[in-house]
Amino acid sequence: MIGWGFTTPIRHNTFKWGVYLPNQYMIANWKMNKTHQEAESYLRAYHAESLPAMVNTVICPSFTSLKTVGCFIATQSWSSPVFLGAQNCATTLAGAYTGEISCDMLVALDCTYVLLGHSERRALFGESDETISTKVSLALQQGLIPVLCIGETLEERDADKTKTVLQKQLKEALPVEMPEPQKLLIAYEPVWAIGTGRTAEPNQVSEAMLFIREQLVSIYGLSANEFSLLYGGSVNKGNIVALSLCGIDGGLVGGASLDPVAFAELARLYAEAKGLR
Ligand code: PEP
Repeated sequence: MIGWGFTTPIRHNTFKWGVYLPNQYMIANWKMNKTHQEAESYLRAYHAESLPAMVNTVICPSFTSLKTVGCFIATQSWSSPVFLGAQNCATTLAGAYTGEISCDMLVALDCTYVLLGHSERRALFGESDETISTKVSLALQQGLIPVLCIGETLEERDADKTKTVLQKQLKEALPVEMPEPQKLLIAYEPVWAIGTGRTAEPNQVSEAMLFIREQLVSIYGLSANEFSLLYGGSVNKGNIVALSLCGIDGGLVGGASLDPVAFAELARLYAEAKGLR
């Protein structure tokens, strides 16, 4: 087994055969599930699985399990890169903000990634594009890689506003000036597909991926394939192969990431479908 470092993603956007190959990811968003004891059992089972070497795994547990998961990741040898991610961060660096968790606290726990702009944060906790933008900038400034989640509601899709919504969410959340914008991860998560069992159609995903790449190119002026774009919304073993052919560089997975054996199988199916060896 090869031991991987866990603070710097390996193979970030490699330049090969004259094109950039974006990093590939399978991200587990456990949401408000699992105690730290359950988190440790999960990691033990996940570690015992065969993991595809070319796919980066990011585990995003609750704040209370970050230390347990981070320590487990750091003290094991992995056959594939595994990283720690948080599900949220505060809008300020430190101070009198009861119940909040700062970027520095996450970095000190060896978090590499942080999910920002998740539709549950937007809808249930009133997070605006402005709040998300503050968090994205702060996370970058403090050394975390944001996984920015964007996506339209069903009403917006039905009103043919998907592209307008995606464009606005990207424009308002992302700083125009940033070093290495290709390190950002963008997750396209149609709100109507999250936790509903309803997945976006392949053509809808492909169209969104193309559109998001175009937007990133126009903001940052890099080539489209330098960015890693993920799809999220009821990803499971029955749809991952079809999704893998839609121009995605990985998945952001909620429900289907809660079981370590099923999540590892998802990563393997994805790698196989993409021809990642
Ligand atoms: C998510 O939490 O980002 C998500 C996509 O959840 P699910 O896979 O359960 O739809």
